[in-house]
Amino acid sequence: MTQAGGIEIVRTVADLRARVGSWRAAGLSVGLVPTMGALHDGHLSLVRQSVGETKRTCATLFINPKQFNPNEDLAAYPRDEAGDVAKLKSAGADLLFAPEVAEMYPPGAATQISVPGIGDILEGEYRAGFFTGVATIVAKLLLQALPDAAFFGEKDYQQLQVIKRMTADLDIPVRICGAPTIREADGLAMSSRNAYLSAQERAIAPTLYAAIRSLAEAVRGGADPASQAAFAAEKLLSAGFSKVDYVTVRNAETLEPVAANDEPARVLAAATLGRARLIDNIAV
Ligand code: AMP
Repeated sequence: MTQAGGIEIVRTVADLRARVGSWRAAGLSVGLVPTMGALHDGHLSLVRQSVGETKRTCATLFINPKQFNPNEDLAAYPRDEAGDVAKLKSAGADLLFAPEVAEMYPPGAATQISVPGIGDILEGEYRAGFFTGVATIVAKLLLQALPDAAFFGEKDYQQLQVIKRMTADLDIPVRICGAPTIREADGLAMSSRNAYLSAQERAIAPTLYAAIRSLAEAVRGGADPASQAAFAAEKLLSAGFSKVDYVTVRNAETLEPVAANDEPARVLAAATLGRARLIDNIAV
């Protein structure tokens, strides 16, 4: 275990278990905040929420190769462990678990967790295998750390629902907490992948939030979800997005298409701008 001015860094499951086990033995509640690093205020809001709700907070930093397709950005994904450690320390985290790939997937590792249905639609449709990668790594992290609570952002709204489904189905004894999306001043949801945007694309990017906000407002006002969603997609393309994977209004829990006007609904969208594939969502 290494110490970096107040926050301890562990790289093995054995060390993680030893540290968290000592907290549990002392009767201290534990919060877990899984991340892929390149931390921004969105990640840190999860850390602060954990610090507020539990006695000890463990963040994790692992760029999970199993949730990237061969044609996706695994090699280019931003990495800055030293910067991340400083930010985690300032947000009050007690421990960082930052394992190597071989620690999480030793030779011979074969078991996967998939969540059919909610894991196959939307992001699951456009990123084959993505939620199997996510569910598998999150289940492993939860079983390795055995936290009382784990914190996930609504920024990745479908991921949050998939993780809730998976932990309920597997009876993993953890409270899954969702946290609101943290945005830049112009509305763009913070994301490590925003680093891929050129200055010109960065100026266009807030159109995504503006479009889903108008769509949510229109649907709230009684407009037809499908035609308003098509209108929002058009707006994105004319603003300069090169491809719109989906803009859609879904049931807020199952993410199935909305059937009735009075069910809780969520607008979800994914679109490509330059090198970046941006996702965002908002409550209706
Ligand atoms: P990532 O490092 O992208 O895997 O994200 C780690 C966690 O941070 C996930 O639970 C995300 O949903 C959450 N997160 C990412 N961006 C934001 C944001 N802008 N606001 C709130 N949470 C976020």
